Parts: sequence; structure tokens; C-alpha cells
Amino acid sequence: MNIKELFNSFCEDDFYSKINLHIHSNHSDGENDFDELIEQAKNLGMKYISITDHNTISGYKNSKYVNDEILIQGVEFDCFYKMSLLHILGYGIDINNEKLNALCAKNQQEQKNDLIRLFKSRHPKKVIEAIHDAGGIAVLAHPCCCNVFNLKDFVKKLKTLGLDGIEAYYPYDRFRGIIKFSSRNKIKNIAEEYNLIKTGGSDEHKSLIK
Ligand SMILES: [Zn+2]
Ligand SMILES: [Zn+2]
Repeated sequence: MNIKELFNSFCEDDFYSKINLHIHSNHSDGENDFDELIEQAKNLGMKYISITDHNTISGYKNSKYVNDEILIQGVEFDCFYKMSLLHILGYGIDINNEKLNALCAKNQQEQKNDLIRLFKSRHPKKVIEAIHDAGGIAVLAHPCCCNVFNLKDFVKKLKTLGLDGIEAYYPYDRFRGIIKFSSRNKIKNIAEEYNLIKTGGSDEHKSLIK
């Protein structure tokens, strides 16, 4: 099964209990150790997780669980497009891919400092191309954080750049941009209209065990 088929086999109820595709470790701004998060997910009996650190895949390179079946290789890139900041998630990526590695942060400061990240934001076209080159799929993270007046049109433009999916299942209350009235249903409708894969995750920066 390829990554698209796998993601399409997930249903809304699978997120966040069995599947969480948006987690941060201390390789970026999360609190927990990379391998510790995987152990937590295993203890919770989860089926799949993806650790998606900001602009880095260094966690995967140092993990003893890199080939574990619970783990889906992931990353979250800072981008800037049409006057808005946005985050693009890459899933199912080859962590040794050259293009992808070239887009990653060069040091810890670049990963952890929001201001530096802001100035180093990339064009989504470049990011999506690198994710595809690495065999992965590109997904718009927490779409309601995009400061755009017409989210549907924004997503349509990203789709023409090669966007494969949209994060439809995430804690909307915690992450709101200008678009105060966008709901899960609106995002689901946009996903269906543009034939985008719907993914989900909690954007966890702390422990998976509450
Ligand atoms: Zn994000
Ligand atoms: Zn995140």
C-alpha cells in the first residue's frame, strides 16, 4: 500500500486516538524526546504516528525506531505564500533525499527560533516539489491558521502547485487565524471539492500521555 492509499483508508474516528500525524519532539520545539514519543504511542496502543518537527528530519536519523511500522516519516516546513505564513507537512518521505535535506534547517537555532524561521520561510512550490521528489505527499497543516480572506481560493492555488492533502482533523479551538468562522465541515468540503486527502493530528508539543 502506498502512502496515499494508506491515508485514504483512515477515517475521522481514527484520529487522534489510534492515529496522530502531527507531533513535535525536542528536535524542534516539542518537549519530549523523539524515541520517547514513539514508546508512549506504543504504550497507548496507537496504530500510526508521524513526528513532524519544524524544518528538520534529524529525529529520524537518530532514532532506533526509524523503520518501525508505527512510524510514518514526516516533517513540517514553514512557508510564505500570497502574504500569508503557512505550514506544509510532508509524509512518507525518504529521509535521505537530497532535495528535502537541502530545505531543512542548518542548525538547532534555525529550528527553534520562530523569528529566524519566519525569515527563512520557503515558497510552497519549492517545498511541495522537494516532498514529491522524496516520494512523499504534501499536506496543508492547520488550514485555519492561514491569514487569508478566501481560504478556498488559497487552497485551490496550492493545489495547482501540487498540494496532495489538507489537515482536516485537528484542535480548531487552539489554532485560529483571521478566519474565525471556518469549521471542520468547511475544511472537509474544501478537501472534497479539490480531491485532497484528509489527514489529522493534534500538533502535540508535549507528552502523548495525558
Ligand atoms: Zn504548524
Ligand atoms: Zn506543528
